[in-house]
Amino acid sequence: MATPVSEMPSIVSDLRASFATGLTRPLSFRKSQLQHIEALVDENLEQLSSALTADMGSRATKIRVCLDDVKKQVRYMMSTLDKKARAQWEATPPDAQDVGRWKIVPEPYGVVLIIAPWNFPFNLVMVPLIAAIAAGNVVVIKPSEVAANTTALIADLIPKYLDARAVRVVLGAVPETTALLEQRFDKICYTGGTKVGRVVAAAAARHLTPTLLELGGKQDAQAHARARTVRKCPVYVHKSADMPIAAERTLRGRFANCGQFCIAADYVLADREVMPLLVQEMKAALPRVCGADPKTSDLYGRIVSEAHVDRIAAFLQEEHGGTIIAGGKVDRDSRYVEPTIVLAPTADSKMLSEEIFGPILPLVPIDGGIDEAISCVNAGDTPLAAYVFAEDKNVAERWVERVSAGGMAVNAVATQLDNVNVPFGGKGESGMGAYRGAYNFDDRFCFMISFTHHKTVLIAHTGKRRALADLLARIW
Ligand code: NAD
Repeated sequence: MATPVSEMPSIVSDLRASFATGLTRPLSFRKSQLQHIEALVDENLEQLSSALTADMGSRATKIRVCLDDVKKQVRYMMSTLDKKARAQWEATPPDAQDVGRWKIVPEPYGVVLIIAPWNFPFNLVMVPLIAAIAAGNVVVIKPSEVAANTTALIADLIPKYLDARAVRVVLGAVPETTALLEQRFDKICYTGGTKVGRVVAAAAARHLTPTLLELGGKQDAQAHARARTVRKCPVYVHKSADMPIAAERTLRGRFANCGQFCIAADYVLADREVMPLLVQEMKAALPRVCGADPKTSDLYGRIVSEAHVDRIAAFLQEEHGGTIIAGGKVDRDSRYVEPTIVLAPTADSKMLSEEIFGPILPLVPIDGGIDEAISCVNAGDTPLAAYVFAEDKNVAERWVERVSAGGMAVNAVATQLDNVNVPFGGKGESGMGAYRGAYNFDDRFCFMISFTHHKTVLIAHTGKRRALADLLARIW
């Protein structure tokens, strides 16, 4: 049920009044709310699992990882809050000794708006909420109308566990969000597509509200027409790569959540001479990643809605010019799209020029090695993530240094967030600002203060140090 648009002004003004009383300032209040979030997860595991399964076809392991991620963020904030919320004295240079002493005082923004997408419908609400509460803000949450079961559960549970003077849930789609965005907020955190990100940024600009935008960075048709090149999360497989690892980790990084996640591997550029071996290894790895029969396997999920099944099927129905080497089947009634690998589609095919956000992996052979891969990626707007597989350190270093991206992994896909000490965020079309863990508090690394983007880079173990492979299998 949608929140009446007439209620938006009072929801925001009530929260603003609470904030003005200083309700959320004491660390004891913030910590108690954080503990209530952990209890919300612990005491509603079954309901959360059913809702996530109904919306996303999520399997038990994935649900556990998602819920653990929320609890990990709570525990991190609980254990570091005393220190992070404390004012820090800064060193005084000799020429300012006579002037005084400086300290940096962390201050909550005030009323924060969190708008979330459907693809991780619980986590992408809760993780920013944890950050906003820990920092002492009051919060309006607008979960996604597309993930209807999870959103209904969030709306039911939040008032039972959190103080309604500090956190409110607004339900609805475009009309309700538009009405909400007319209100003045002190910070907006938006996760979703780049096109709507522009709408949010424009609304925020009217009130000079700072925004944290976590975007896809890969679906803006207008921007695409300008640059005429792919701008999605790339994987480059160099000829020196450990091919079994490159194949399996790329598949996990594409087919987890049926490809419905923002840092998924969107396409693979591979040196032509190793493409046959990569294809062979991918075919061998596919049953391990998605099950021998993905349709009945516990290892594979479902597409969020029939409309999205149709959108994804269109990539396969058009004349894409490639060869389907695995998968290709679509069953609309059960919202199932087979994990599909397409070899050498044409550059102007939809699957190489639009955001797929589904389980299709295009493979593109290239002849110019690392330099061609870098120029191909940098020719477009900045992706949220860019991945390289190479045992040749010079190649990996060149990729890290030269490719512009929100974050990266060397010899891994999509596991760069497995560390509470690193930031997550995009650059350019893939977003602005960063958050999670240690960076929830550190505005110094956000665009407003710093002029350097801090690109998180994971250098994953290969060879003898296969611990990460096990970790990956556990996670995805
Ligand atoms: P979306 O942009 O369609 O919707 C996200 C939210 O915005 C929803 O809550 C929706 O109600 C609201 N919304 C939609 N249209 C609106 C409008 N015109 N005005 C105001 N609000 C509006 O995104 P989605 O389809 O829910 O999610 C998929 C997208 O999210 C993908 O593009 C993906 O790449 C991106 N994504 C990014 C990240 C990240 O961290 N960078 C994470 C997950 C998903």
